Amino acid sequence: MHELSIAMGIVNRALETAEEHGAETVTALTVELGSATHVNPAQLKFCIETAAKETPVAEAVVTIEEVTPLAECVCGWEGTPGTLDQAMVYAPDVTCPECGDRTTLIRGRECRLATVELPDEQSHQKSAQETPAPTQNKPPEEKRLLQDNKS
Ligand SMILES: [Zn+2]
Repeated sequence: MHELSIAMGIVNRALETAEEHGAETVTALTVELGSATHVNPAQLKFCIETAAKETPVAEAVVTIEEVTPLAECVCGWEGTPGTLDQAMVYAPDVTCPECGDRTTLIRGRECRLATVELPDEQSHQKSAQETPAPTQNKPPEEKRLLQDNKS
């Protein structure tokens, strides 16, 4: 259930991106998924494909990129927390193997839309010709001239 709500958020972001670029479809998307999120990559992929049904994202190739967790300590230690799976369940902080202090997880909690691939540039140019950029707006220079005449 958790995966589905994440998936819907990702699909919505992809839809927004496509809309911003005037694309009618999304050809591919990549999701960065940190291992510390405990989100199952295969399940997330399935949920994204489910959430994308009957949207412009439906045909997109979904790639899940797993991000290896990385922790750092105030003493300068930096590395992959070895007992992360257990640590993440029972306590959010992992202790440093060097000084025993609590480390901070600096990578591994990612769960975000990394890239969105839109149809090639040819179709972009085509849609740009269909809807030319608006030129009715008065250029700022004209405004300045009017002000000069008044004074
Ligand atoms: Zn330390």
